Amino acid sequence: MSNLDTHPEETVCRTAADDHVAVLFAPRDVPLGGLRGIHVDRLLPQRGLPTVGAWCFLDVFGPDTTRMTVLPHPHTGLQTVTWPLAGEIHHRDSVGSDVLVRPGQLNLMTGGHGVAHSEISVDSGELLHGLQLWVALPAERAGMAPAFEQHVDLPTYAGGGLTATVFAGTLGGETSPATVHTPLVGADLRVAEGAATTLPLRTDFEHAVLPIDGPLLVSGTEAPAGRLLYLGTGRPEVTLSASRPVRAVLLGGEPFPDELVMWWNFVGRGHDEIAAARADWEGADRTRFGVVQGHGGDRIPAPELPNVRLTPRRHGHRG
Ligand code: MN
Repeated sequence: MSNLDTHPEETVCRTAADDHVAVLFAPRDVPLGGLRGIHVDRLLPQRGLPTVGAWCFLDVFGPDTTRMTVLPHPHTGLQTVTWPLAGEIHHRDSVGSDVLVRPGQLNLMTGGHGVAHSEISVDSGELLHGLQLWVALPAERAGMAPAFEQHVDLPTYAGGGLTATVFAGTLGGETSPATVHTPLVGADLRVAEGAATTLPLRTDFEHAVLPIDGPLLVSGTEAPAGRLLYLGTGRPEVTLSASRPVRAVLLGGEPFPDELVMWWNFVGRGHDEIAAARADWEGADRTRFGVVQGHGGDRIPAPELPNVRLTPRRHGHRG
């Protein structure tokens, strides 16, 4: 997915909290542009919450019948996770990948020093619905070589009416085969009707839960569908209950130590680094991002840089 959100607005809702942090974040409706102009709900980054662990970006797209056509565009300093809930996406990238991205399968692209990719929904008549996530790379890996991996078989953790597909990191002793570079977790949760279950967490991780298609009661806090509930650190477990079947996503990780500069599709640590990536995509060094086969010369041009120096997003919630 390509990020065209250059003027985001944030809404933060605070809930009644227990001893732990529990803060609800509302999404922002962001147009992605393009011919048919699809919109996404952006849950990360938020004002005061730039990251959850190394997770630095979370968009929900659909459910929508609109076809998605995202032409070749670049990424640096991050990994992208495309997680369809319904529908299929044709992914091509500049490391030579040409794959269909299907629900239940992990597609992890490492941008590192520079990668380009395109994403085009397969016109199967099915609704398109899914998540686009970015993982920030730690400073010492931010310039690593680009890579792509697809994992068709992912481990599941089950108990008490909960089934969790672990797509990144470890949850309940189940570990995803995905290559990650900081301690983190990402899981697709299916909570059964009437379930009341306890999920073990790492206390050194911060976590957040996004209910997707219905409300969840999360350790005493009601989390409506489509809101990101930030849970802070220090929780040895979280309880989940639902009065009807609910799908949700759990994200977590060691609080990310660096303040990141995120602009367009680049993640970096300073203005000059981002400006150089933009210039390279616009032609200063096309070899940096390589070529995505099958598009001729079609690509998404970078927006103009703002007339101010880009500065990092700062953390406002830690606990
Ligand atoms: Mn992308």
